[in-house]
Amino acid sequence: MDTLSHFILALLAGLAMGLHRKHKLSLIVFISFCSILIDLDHFLLSLGYATQRCPFHNIFIVFLIPFTLFLISYYLERNSPSDKFQVFFLLLTIMLTGHLIADMVGRPVQIFYPVSDMMVSIPKVDIQATPDFSSSIVNSHEIGMAIYAVIIFIGVFIHDILYHQRRKHLNFRDALQHAIGDWL
Ligand SMILES: [Zn+2]
Repeated sequence: MDTLSHFILALLAGLAMGLHRKHKLSLIVFISFCSILIDLDHFLLSLGYATQRCPFHNIFIVFLIPFTLFLISYYLERNSPSDKFQVFFLLLTIMLTGHLIADMVGRPVQIFYPVSDMMVSIPKVDIQATPDFSSSIVNSHEIGMAIYAVIIFIGVFIHDILYHQRRKHLNFRDALQHAIGDWL
């Protein structure tokens, strides 16, 4: 997927989480910009420093590191009036993970680099109701978008738990129950 589309999808993910109601829109734009920086791989590739989108398009950069930073921020800000770092890293994790998923549509990516060179992609799928009508019911792009949507849903759910914990001074278990109650 091209970098502009990544940026727009990241912006939509931030808006879907409703963060603009409490935080400045410029923060969402800034995190969206951060999430497209891994496309520096394209320049590294053209300069001959990288192969097949590594070293930034992998689960360590897009998920493990930002999610660990989210957990650390969550712990450090538990008694703080500010939650900006945990929000920052939660949203960055969602945007970066969605970015990698979108790039895996029909194209193999070394998602475990540098631990493994295994290439993984969302397989090419194109299901059509009838050959007379050339629009798919499901294809690889829609599967990628569906996974991206699930990632956003998980992010919204985590953010709901944080909201209940912070605003209503609940422990994690009670906040989890409230968040589930909101969704059902
Ligand atoms: Zn990319």
